[in-house]
Amino acid sequence: MKLWLRTREIEKKGIATDVNPDHISLTQMRTALNALPIGVVIYDAGGNEWWLNRAAHAVVDQQRGHQDMAHTMTSLSNKALHGRTSTVHVDVDGPPGQTLEIRSVSLINGGALLMIEDVTERIITDRVRTDFVANISHELKTPVGALALLAETIAGEADEPDSDIERLAKRMVEESHRVARIIDDLLELAKIEFDGVADQAPVNIQTILSEAVGRVNAVAVANKIFISSVPIDTDIVCHGDARQLVSAITNLCENAVKYSNAGAQVDVAVTRESGYVTISVADRGIGIEPEHLDRVFERFYRVDQARSRQTGGTGLGLAIVRHVAANHGGEVNVVSTPGEGSTFSLRLPMARG
Ligand code: ADP
Repeated sequence: MKLWLRTREIEKKGIATDVNPDHISLTQMRTALNALPIGVVIYDAGGNEWWLNRAAHAVVDQQRGHQDMAHTMTSLSNKALHGRTSTVHVDVDGPPGQTLEIRSVSLINGGALLMIEDVTERIITDRVRTDFVANISHELKTPVGALALLAETIAGEADEPDSDIERLAKRMVEESHRVARIIDDLLELAKIEFDGVADQAPVNIQTILSEAVGRVNAVAVANKIFISSVPIDTDIVCHGDARQLVSAITNLCENAVKYSNAGAQVDVAVTRESGYVTISVADRGIGIEPEHLDRVFERFYRVDQARSRQTGGTGLGLAIVRHVAANHGGEVNVVSTPGEGSTFSLRLPMARG
């Protein structure tokens, strides 16, 4: 966060050309940037390395001969010069081996800036956490399934219909199904986080949409909600993991249905623009208050606990969508008006050629 603020500050001050001498001198700016633990490389508008801070020198001098590193830096700075920000991880040989995160931004006065950070520790911690969640979820799956079956048996064996035993056993069945759904979502999230996009292939967006809408249709019909999906060009293709993309769009459609009232309409639309395709799912449901918009993509964050419980939500759907978007070099955004509805947009780079 701090880094982004600093970057914005650098952009605002336009350090390459228009530093206000009354406020900060270039020397002061250099000293400040040299004190950062993160590497900073500044490129001029022609794509030449213009200035490196101390931390960047340490990494770049050591990794100069590393093909991946050199190639990544050139490619990221070129993209940034064309206005595209990106983040890439590069594994470099040791000892000790490291994972470097390289982020690029374009500067408003022309030129680009790369930030290089050693994220080795963070990646290891994330892996351990993801493994732990995956293992524990896997271990819970079998006993929870058994509990659901036992409760179903008790409900079926109750002597009198509508007896307390039958009622309680049915509640136990519902609750165990809920836990089973949370476990499934946790496993799905762990897999998506851990694998990245392991199974890369050209993916036809129309096929993905039909499958996702098909999965949600039964629930939509049961809630008297109509999902309108405009036919799209059959040649829109992304490069990625079809299973993950279906999962992401299904989650968005499920939410649109869950958070709409009976009789409402949900619109699924696709637009494309400069190498990107945007799939948007718009509902006319309850909407989201502005203060929650940034947080709904966090795992287990719910605006309304009670409604999420009542509709069978797990609190993990949007976290899954966000990870799928990141795995594909895309992003997910939301625009919402309380009481009027929400539009979630998944933006993905299209496959070239
Ligand atoms: P859940 O399983 O609870 O729906 P999600 O991660 O899918 O979890 O969504 C997180 C929260 O964001 C939800 O609990 C809900 O409060 C809010 N939300 C998501 N989608 C919508 C929507 N289309 N309309 C209104 N609120 C939504």
